[in-house]
Amino acid sequence: MKVIEHISKAKKTLFSFEILPPLRGNDIKDIFSTLDPLMEFNPPFIDVTYHREEFIYVEKDNGLLQRRKISRRPGTVGICAAIMNKYGVDAVPHLICGGFNKQMTENALIDLNFLGIDNVLVLRGDPLKSESNFFAKKDGHKYAVELVEQVKDLNRGKYLDKTFVERKESPLFDFCIGVAGYPEKHLEAPNIESDLFFLKKKIEAGADYIVTQMFFDNKEYFSFVKKCRSEGVTVPIIPGIKPLSSKKQLNSLPSRFYLNIPHELVKEVEKAKDKKVVSDIGIEWAIHQSKELKNSGVEVIHYYTMDRPENIYKIIQSIY
Ligand code: FAD
Repeated sequence: MKVIEHISKAKKTLFSFEILPPLRGNDIKDIFSTLDPLMEFNPPFIDVTYHREEFIYVEKDNGLLQRRKISRRPGTVGICAAIMNKYGVDAVPHLICGGFNKQMTENALIDLNFLGIDNVLVLRGDPLKSESNFFAKKDGHKYAVELVEQVKDLNRGKYLDKTFVERKESPLFDFCIGVAGYPEKHLEAPNIESDLFFLKKKIEAGADYIVTQMFFDNKEYFSFVKKCRSEGVTVPIIPGIKPLSSKKQLNSLPSRFYLNIPHELVKEVEKAKDKKVVSDIGIEWAIHQSKELKNSGVEVIHYYTMDRPENIYKIIQSIY
């Protein structure tokens, strides 16, 4: 079922999750042990992130360096199929522009369709670690909006290669499309107005809903929703929540995701004596955020699990 159908049928706030494929060499059981306890909360859908290949340099016997392509977290599509099979819950694979040309994207969408997957979260992807800017693959997409357009074209029965039969009357594809939104703006955007302008383009191109970047101050989310609505963006805007779990994140999250952590939370975390106390503070903060979001009537709260089901469990248990 489509994410937007889940939303339109919901009688109360729903709780969805995002998981990461395990690191190469680890077992799919890691995914199940993250999800098993969370199934109690009847998630309408579970997102599975996509991780682009990376380049590493390996020293050869002759001392020269060899550039090697590696994929640390493969398996997004297989994990989606496994989730749907084991739990009977809709899986939402993330689909990115980075590393894909249009033909590879079309093939990936055909795979997803054959597996009975109805939803995709469409993203540009971050620049490679070795690059300061994002570079599209040759004949790939530079921005998420272009990928939304490609999915939408396939929904209309338009394949890249015109020699294939166009099924305009009975298209095989009908993906529900989600896109990312940034309450505190995307880190590359010169200002929030510019970011909203391009977010609106993704909706005009056919995206059905928005999932937000994590935020620690609900005011940022409420203000973002208000701005989107005043720009004429009417699709559901699903808030993304991640509980803070270490002192290190006080610096790593703002620098990586361009977000603010409220002073009150920072002060409490800095005073904490050990990791357990930090984790408890993070959970309490997320409970407070979740309660307020639920009371405001949001349709879905989306949790970034980061393979820490115990934190997410405690948060939802206290508001379910
Ligand atoms: P876009 O919408 O393309 O925007 C990127 C930047 O370009 C923005 O600053 C925007 O304002 C600007 N822009 C957009 N269109 C134009 C245009 N036409 N002209 C000029 N500027 C433009 N990354 C992964 O690699 N894998 C994942 O699974 C993943 N999951 C995510 C899930 C969520 C909910 C979120 C919020 C992010 C996720 N990301 C993931 C990270 C995401 O890929 C990065 O934030 C990326 O840098 C931007 O992606 P986007 O889809 O928002 O890009």
